[in-house]
Amino acid sequence: MLPSATSPEAAVIGGGPAGLIAAEVLARAGVAVTVYDRMPSVGRKLLMAGRGGLNLTHSEEFARFVARYAEARPQLEPLIEAFRPEDLRAWCEELGQETFVGSSGRVFPKAFKASPLLRAWLSRLEILEVRFALRQSWQGWDEEGRLVFTDAAGKSMRAKPDATILALGGASWPRLGSDGTWVELLAQRGIAVSALRPANMGFTCPWSEIMRSRFAGEPLKRIALTFQGATVKGEAIVTQDGIEGGAVYALSARLRDAIEQDGSALLHIDLRPDLSPESLLRKLDTPRKGQSASTFLRKAASLSPVGIALLREASPALPAEPEALARLIKAVPVTLTGAKSLERAISTAGGVPFSELDEHLMLRRIPGVFVAGEMLDWEAPTGGYLLQATFASGIAAARGVLASLQIPDAALTLEPSSATRQS
Ligand SMILES: Cc1cc2nc3c(=O)[nH]c(=O)nc-3n(C[C@H](O)[C@H](O)[C@H](O)COP(=O)(O)OP(=O)(O)OC[C@H]3O[C@@H](n4cnc5c(N)ncnc54)[C@H](O)[C@@H]3O)c2cc1C
Repeated sequence: MLPSATSPEAAVIGGGPAGLIAAEVLARAGVAVTVYDRMPSVGRKLLMAGRGGLNLTHSEEFARFVARYAEARPQLEPLIEAFRPEDLRAWCEELGQETFVGSSGRVFPKAFKASPLLRAWLSRLEILEVRFALRQSWQGWDEEGRLVFTDAAGKSMRAKPDATILALGGASWPRLGSDGTWVELLAQRGIAVSALRPANMGFTCPWSEIMRSRFAGEPLKRIALTFQGATVKGEAIVTQDGIEGGAVYALSARLRDAIEQDGSALLHIDLRPDLSPESLLRKLDTPRKGQSASTFLRKAASLSPVGIALLREASPALPAEPEALARLIKAVPVTLTGAKSLERAISTAGGVPFSELDEHLMLRRIPGVFVAGEMLDWEAPTGGYLLQATFASGIAAARGVLASLQIPDAALTLEPSSATRQS
């Protein structure tokens, strides 16, 4: 149903995936929607996510999937139940972007980028007569309760829609548009926003000069990281001043919290997680035949030069006894001294707490104003969990608007295809 002159009006502030999906749900139900964004174009962070292949969601079993949201699981599970990973895949495929499950169980569009999906999506929104007001930076409300926006020249514009969805994102990668300035605007209205903190970010550690100059940028492949009893297999990358990458991000919430509390965190890296300590020991317990330590480790334990350098960082004089060497390779200690800043983090922890919202994601203190996406107080590892919760919360907020305006919901997607529907 397309909007008419008498349709109720909604403002969606923020044209990321949360705002755009909310706009789609509202427009399909016949609401006249305007999407406001401070940037000259929408979906910039989505496009950036596309540079890494656009990990849309994950194919793992539902209970395991929702457990990734840790403390926010009780609030997010019903939203994700209402828009499940297979629904996201079906929606994407309806826009002409086939999806596939990678070897890790992660789901990607076959195009392995976001631009074709975003293009098709924006065309659909155009057909649904969604309006876009770009280069409009939201400044809060005036004394009459109207939304206030300013453009780059400082000219201001006001709007008084029937309902508003805030989908302003977190504060990572601020050059893409989301910078967390909304925190102050909500605080002025008495909303207790949890401090924004980096999530899925790298860490600093005091590498030696040789590690910095020779190994920055080198990947540590097929490793396992252990911290506080949690072990994650994957990859990491040595940086100039620390370490980053998928396996690090997976432990980043615990590491960040430990560093905040204790000033540092001791991470252990298993350079050969595929080998039991006994098998590794058998490989190391052979004559060195005059080989240098590096050559021996490369040949006997198949360690990469960066792996060997990591051993030397932990123990400059490498242990001569095979048992001690095997122990070190299975658990190289690395002391992390700081978390990388929010500006370079993949995502943001903190935000609007669920306690400030009703079950439709409406702010209890500001009736008619709903919140969605990364600006809500939840965090999750990489793996598609960020976009899944972003989409699901955008849809939930839009349905909340429809309920408040007493407008029936129009179905968002076709039934998921049998190829993507899982048990
Ligand atoms: C490098 C990188 C890679 C990523 N890869 C993945 C991935 O593969 N899989 C995954 O699940 N997630 C990934 N993410 C995370 C994912 O992109 C975000 O979680 C998602 O974009 C959040 O969507 P959102 O709509 O809540 O916010 P955003 O996408 O940040 O959109 C918010 C919008 O609000 C606008 N805005 C902000 N403040 C104002 C204001 N005051 N006035 C007007 N407009 C404003 C911004 O310009 C922006 O357009 C990645 C993130 C990064 C940085």
